[in-house]
Amino acid sequence: HELNLALLPEAAYERHGDHDALVYDGQVHRFGELQERAARIGGALSRLGIRPGDRVVVLMANRPEVSVAYNAIWRSGAVVTPVMFLVTPGELAHILTDSGARAIITASGLLATVAAAAADAPDLQHLLLVDELPEEAAAGLPGTLTVSTFTDLEAADADADATGIVTRGNEELAALLYTGGTTGRAKGVMLSHRNLHTCSLAAYQAGEEPGLTDTINRTLVPLPLSHAYGLIVTLAGWQAPKPQLAVLQRWFDPAEWLTLAHEHRIQRTTLVPSMIQMLLGQPLENADLSELRLVNSGGAPLPYETRLAWQERLPHSRILEGYGLTESGSVVSATRPGHIRPDSVGRPLPGYAVEIRDDTDRALPAGSDGEICVRSAGVMSGYWHAPTLTARTLRDGWLYTGDIGHLDTDGFLYIVDRKKDLILRGGFNIFPRDIEDTLITHPSVAQAGVVGRPDPRLGEEVVAFVALHPGCRTDPAELIAYARDHLAAHKYPREIRVIDRLPLTSVGKLDRKALRAYAEQDRA
Ligand code: ATP
Repeated sequence: HELNLALLPEAAYERHGDHDALVYDGQVHRFGELQERAARIGGALSRLGIRPGDRVVVLMANRPEVSVAYNAIWRSGAVVTPVMFLVTPGELAHILTDSGARAIITASGLLATVAAAAADAPDLQHLLLVDELPEEAAAGLPGTLTVSTFTDLEAADADADATGIVTRGNEELAALLYTGGTTGRAKGVMLSHRNLHTCSLAAYQAGEEPGLTDTINRTLVPLPLSHAYGLIVTLAGWQAPKPQLAVLQRWFDPAEWLTLAHEHRIQRTTLVPSMIQMLLGQPLENADLSELRLVNSGGAPLPYETRLAWQERLPHSRILEGYGLTESGSVVSATRPGHIRPDSVGRPLPGYAVEIRDDTDRALPAGSDGEICVRSAGVMSGYWHAPTLTARTLRDGWLYTGDIGHLDTDGFLYIVDRKKDLILRGGFNIFPRDIEDTLITHPSVAQAGVVGRPDPRLGEEVVAFVALHPGCRTDPAELIAYARDHLAAHKYPREIRVIDRLPLTSVGKLDRKALRAYAEQDRA
């Protein structure tokens, strides 16, 4: 049971004593305080009847209680099921019923969503509030639900034995993460204690670079902790041998990011590319970012132009890009300082092997594009209650990622695109990223998103959406001419629409589902 995740913060606490762990909303939280609260809430969960292996949903925006809730759930032997707070009642109802969650930990501002979803979730018995229950909200909740607050539970357990941790096997389920931000219906990714240990250790090591990271201990985290990326960043923090201080942002807002970064003189931050692009629109030069040395980017492709623009504005900070997916424990590869190759997402991390395979499952040589396959103790054990999908995705010990790319002869990985985003136009396979990367080289274009639209003659037609830099003007005809000059005849977009900003998913990725709907809606 040595990998039980509840032991990670225990060990960190042992190492770090009572150092500061988190800053949120101007308040500092020490390791010991978070640890003690987790012990009390963990004990309370067990007393409520939460058994090892039960799923417990955690639904809230970033705040210290997210960390407390995760640790409490692991201490009770249960399974963390994080859900993004922007979820709709319908999506939450799906997750609650699919997971069979017996308890939900949430904040009062989200009770309307919970009330609407809980009516369709017969397994849900307990609601734990991290703040107070507003009187008017109680009436809307199903009568079958017991409601308690963290304040009451912590007070009730003031004398309880704080050392009680329910041990779990290394292969047993630790987290059930629902993904489906950019494609289809949310599916539950099952990650065991071993999986999360492996990937968080790799994530921690990915950021390690003698002379660069050993002096870094203040990180600004605007990523939602409910997403695999945010969860692993949190766990990676517990893995660090030295105390790490995380400045937690409730929800990414570029102006507030800048204020926090300045105020706490942050040294590292973890972002997705759309956040980097939004930050480039901020007066970065007016803030004290002199200690910012490391920017981690991941979750979506980082356009080379964006990287260059950032390096130009903040030459003393480096962007390290990571690639991964929820199914692989959110990491696979990452770039390292001094080993950057343009367009590569770096080499596989320790404990991760990558192979490129063709449609007949044969391994391809360096330089050939195929499906990126991953093998690691960090890879999920499968999709929850979806054996067919699991069998299609996990084959002879390899995770078929659905991403297309190649390795070079030195083992650097290059991502071309996602299989499911591929556009089939007149018999040709077209990768939207290829077109997006070209459009973004136009001086007026800040962001580009390309999708296929069903077309009776060609199967699909390529439609591009672009957002312009502030103050820039250009018309679609000029952009189409530019694309025609720079791209092969069969793939340049015949239709380009200028929009204010591209639709993003709640983690800040390009929302292709929404773009496809736009493309179909008002056909030009
Ligand atoms: P779904 O898989 O259901 O569509 P999602 O896209 O939100 O949902 P995630 O697990 O968050 O699921 O996303 C993983 C995907 O993000 C990868 O498979 C890959 O396509 C893309 N990705 C992540 N990092 C990078 C990167 N550095 N460069 C390019 N693509 C990346």
